[in-house]
Amino acid sequence: MTEGTINKKVRVRFAPSPTGGLHLGGVRTVLFNYLFAKQHGGDFVVRIEDTDQTRFVAGAEDYIFETLKWCGLTPDESSLHGGPFAPYRQSERKPMYKEFADKLVKEGKAYYAFDTAEELDTKRKEINNFQYNHATRGLMKNSLTLSAKETESLLAAGTPHVIRILLPDNEEVKFTDLIRGEVIFNTNQVDDKVLLKADGMPTYHLAVVVDDFKMEITHAFRGEEWLPSAPVHILLWNYLFGLENMPQWAHLPLILKPDGNGKLSKRDGDRLGFPTFAMDWKDPKSEETTIGFRERGFLPEAFVNMLAALGWNDGSGQEVFSLDELIAKFSIDRVHKGGAKFDYEKAKWYNQEWIKKLPVSSYQAQVKQILADKGIIANDENLEQILNLVKERCVFLNDFVEQAGFFFKASDTPDIASIKPKWEEKKNMFFIELIRAYELSTLWEAADLEKEFKELAAAHQLKPGELMLPFRIMLVGGKFGPGVFEIAAFLGRDETLNRIKKVLGMLD
Ligand code: GLU
Repeated sequence: MTEGTINKKVRVRFAPSPTGGLHLGGVRTVLFNYLFAKQHGGDFVVRIEDTDQTRFVAGAEDYIFETLKWCGLTPDESSLHGGPFAPYRQSERKPMYKEFADKLVKEGKAYYAFDTAEELDTKRKEINNFQYNHATRGLMKNSLTLSAKETESLLAAGTPHVIRILLPDNEEVKFTDLIRGEVIFNTNQVDDKVLLKADGMPTYHLAVVVDDFKMEITHAFRGEEWLPSAPVHILLWNYLFGLENMPQWAHLPLILKPDGNGKLSKRDGDRLGFPTFAMDWKDPKSEETTIGFRERGFLPEAFVNMLAALGWNDGSGQEVFSLDELIAKFSIDRVHKGGAKFDYEKAKWYNQEWIKKLPVSSYQAQVKQILADKGIIANDENLEQILNLVKERCVFLNDFVEQAGFFFKASDTPDIASIKPKWEEKKNMFFIELIRAYELSTLWEAADLEKEFKELAAAHQLKPGELMLPFRIMLVGGKFGPGVFEIAAFLGRDETLNRIKKVLGMLD
């Protein structure tokens, strides 16, 4: 099966369980689904898989939609956006699943299991690595081991029970994965998964198949961690809706730790000092906040670009892609099978590239807010020009606080220590004269200011080189920033002179 066989309208889905913040692997799954759908003029559906109410976390669903909005990956249909296949939250679709579980029982492809939690526990203790499967189901309390009469009376008495799939013994289940090619499982490797729980809620396995069918999903790209569940899904498709209606699968490679040893986890990010979540996530129970790429100062363009490169390239060596370019160039055939190592330095590189590449107007409002959060009030008039002047020096949006903040607010703690050792009366005199000269100058352009500065230095028999560092510390507060005369031009006469005077006072 290849992409070439598409003849229906492409419909993909992202099917998150709202259990917490969205890991970057989850956003990459969204991205690959989205790119594929948009490339084929198809629909991108977001379905909330909240059938496991014990894992439900308040706020997680809103967080998912906010992340998608930030990334510019807008769903065509979802629990938030609505659509022709609503509801898009599985808990609200509860009545739709039971008939399929019942049908499977009737056809001998599933069975009732009455084992209590204690009974299952006992078996787990008796049998090493216990699995409810071909080898053990005969030892358990289910409609396969009980007589029809016993089963009926247990059901009539309302005895709590689940419905489990009955996997055929020792059979091969095959499917073609768009990334991995042919994948084969033996049913003996798989357990009899629960399809319907005692509370009447479907499990993920039943719900995902029923909903992918009902929502007319044509392609389903999901993380590699779902590969072991695939044989159950394939069998369910075969039993319920026919394999010809099944979506084409692609199991996306894992995102690995920077050293390549295992899957990248939130803990790796905490340990190594980088975000693994898209945006800040505050766990409602522990109140612990996990830092996100957005709050770390990443641009969504860079985040998306970086995610696309985790496991995919277009073969041309091009690295910087806009979302539109990705839609045009993405191809599932070029996604690697092997895991993609996460490289935070590379992520930062993407961000720097995007800060340089985008017009500053596209992130000016955000930077203004970041500055305001630090008590720096920037006026729009100069902000655009200033951001242009310093953007080459910023890796993160937050770097603008240091690189641009001093234009609006003098440093409270200028780096006096770097001037002091070489400070002398001659230099003090020079700056006092400079204040006078600048007070009188009729022009206030960088070139004029530089000329005056150099002439005055010559008159004082000082090398301009020796005076530049003190001048920079006076205006900027530290040893960084663009050309110092350009800074003075921006600051204007009063502010420039005030800053010189302030630092001279501190050097006394
Ligand atoms: N609900 C599953 C998850 O939380 C979705 C897996 C799938 O896409 O089939 O990731």
